[in-house]
Amino acid sequence: MNHPQYDYAIIGAGAAGLQLTLKMIQDDFFSEKRILILDKDDKVANDRTWCFWEKGETIWDQLATHTWSFGQFINQEKTIDFELTPYRYKMVRSANFYAYAKAIIAKAENVDWVKDSVGHIEEQSIIGTKNSYSANHVFDSRIPESFLEKQTKYHSLIQHFKGWFIQSESTCFNPDSFVMMDYRLKWKDSTSFTYVLPISETEALVEFTLFNNHLLPDDEYDEYLKKYIDQHLQLKTFQIKEVEQGQIPMSDYPFYKHHSKNITKIGTAGGWVRPSSGYSFKNADRYSSMMIENIKSGNRPEKGIATSRFRGYDSIFLNVLSKRNDLGEDIFTRLYTKPNIQSVFRFLDEESNISEDLRVMFSLNRPQFWKAFLSTFWR
Ligand SMILES: Cc1cc2nc3c(=O)[nH]c(=O)nc-3n(C[C@H](O)[C@H](O)[C@H](O)COP(=O)(O)OP(=O)(O)OC[C@H]3O[C@@H](n4cnc5c(N)ncnc54)[C@H](O)[C@@H]3O)c2cc1C
Repeated sequence: MNHPQYDYAIIGAGAAGLQLTLKMIQDDFFSEKRILILDKDDKVANDRTWCFWEKGETIWDQLATHTWSFGQFINQEKTIDFELTPYRYKMVRSANFYAYAKAIIAKAENVDWVKDSVGHIEEQSIIGTKNSYSANHVFDSRIPESFLEKQTKYHSLIQHFKGWFIQSESTCFNPDSFVMMDYRLKWKDSTSFTYVLPISETEALVEFTLFNNHLLPDDEYDEYLKKYIDQHLQLKTFQIKEVEQGQIPMSDYPFYKHHSKNITKIGTAGGWVRPSSGYSFKNADRYSSMMIENIKSGNRPEKGIATSRFRGYDSIFLNVLSKRNDLGEDIFTRLYTKPNIQSVFRFLDEESNISEDLRVMFSLNRPQFWKAFLSTFWR
């Protein structure tokens, strides 16, 4: 069996692996390097809809299905409208991103894409089911098995959801504004809400989402979606065009412990999901750029990534929500509405300074937070 040799191997052609590969292709530093990308799947499916906020026009505008400059946050008592400027909220469907990335990778002579399932890595040797490969450095997006085992030491919740892309007969959506969270319909007294992304006056993605560790039987998500569409969108006739379902880990598990001399974990497996929100697509953009600069400067690729003080704040969120899941509506109402949405985006993008962080933390003013704050930072 031949044993192809590479400078870099990227395991997983997902959000993280592909964004890293594209940034390597765009940078002359890597033009003489041999790069291997390995994935067990073909990567053609619309298996996820990535949404995120960012300022200005970027490459993502070309791929976006829709963007919004206005949003709403709805709880049992009121609807809060917000304007996102200078940010916009953007929706990128995975099939568009995979097709875009594949077209660029196909033209890059120094990159090979191989469909293979990786079993394990022995430092520089990658053992796949079809072949073995050798690389000086491996970027690995497989989730560590120890994370999947039951963890009691860390605070972990699952963001689990099911969504329907629906089409109505009559016009009923405002495509200029999306609903970040609507808490009027909840599963028991938990952190659960509906997320509504209108892409035209007659089409929207409606998603019922929970942040807890209690997965529901499939038909229960459907019941909640039906109820929301009937009671809150007041839509009697509609068609379900597509279904999206998923789980995102929200955890303060120390993913960084799985980096080793020749292996850097990336994506969800590298702790790139922001534990308090479940967002990670934009982190993949930001962190892949940081990795490229680290490599060029001779540093460890993961230097400074996903290890900042923000992880401490997230641990507080998870600590509180694990113990008091009923507080989610109140916590997220305070988070997304005080002092304003722009400060929250800066905080979630890890761009805020300590005084801005404290303002966000003070806005959550709840005894459970202060207790968790003290146990996180003074343990
Ligand atoms: C349905 C859904 C919707 C989401 N929506 C958003 C959103 O709106 N905004 C946001 O910021 N985040 C969102 N997320 C969270 C996060 O952005 C995504 O999960 C993102 O795809 C994570 O990127 P990744 O590269 O770590 O993993 P993935 O994109 O899942 O890629 C991992 C890749 O590794 C491959 N792989 C796994 N094991 C092996 C193996 N043994 N051998 C070879 N290949 C292997 C897989 O086939 C896959 O292609 C969503 C997640 C889901 C599931």
